[in-house]
Amino acid sequence: MSKDGQEKVLLVDGTALTLLVERKKRVKNVNARLEGSVLRVSAPPGMRDEDLAPVVEGLARRLLRRAHARKVNGEGEALALARRVAGRFPEPPSVGRVLFSTAQRSRWGSYSPRTDTVRLNAALRGMPRWVLEAVVAHELAHAVHPDHSPSFWRLLRGACPETDRAIAFLDGVSWLARHHAELPPVEREGLGMRESAVPGDGTDPL
Ligand SMILES: [Zn+2]
Repeated sequence: MSKDGQEKVLLVDGTALTLLVERKKRVKNVNARLEGSVLRVSAPPGMRDEDLAPVVEGLARRLLRRAHARKVNGEGEALALARRVAGRFPEPPSVGRVLFSTAQRSRWGSYSPRTDTVRLNAALRGMPRWVLEAVVAHELAHAVHPDHSPSFWRLLRGACPETDRAIAFLDGVSWLARHHAELPPVEREGLGMRESAVPGDGTDPL
């Protein structure tokens, strides 16, 4: 955090942020704004780096917590969601627990009727709620039809009308995970996502 406009990586509670510090003449307080994974900080010109660092870390932690609070974070919340989704099926499958997994690189989710467990890719936590619901619905529909037959899609679309939109969304995410590095820098910043947060292969994401 030394010179103006210099980029630095800041690690806060396991999340890597790109830190951009700007010294501004008329700035009296330290201000921080989180845009995706970029933390923009403006600071008074006279403030020393060693005084600024702990302030920035505190602000970053608060902003990250606020951002996380908007997402489906806890597995308890995800369980309630999964049970609501299950209730939309003609014969609701039983869901005993929902687990988020970071090891699940190439699949968005799975469901085991034997253990009543829905497993979800942890990357889904950062996505819109309706996408997460669609993945849960897809996996639950497999409890009735293990294949992708027309009856499977009929059942699934009945329980989750957002299915096709969610597939398009996840296809976009998988595409981005593969092509992220080729996008111009300005677009990458605007997209504000971490490459490691999404699975890489995505040939059959569901
Ligand atoms: Zn499937």
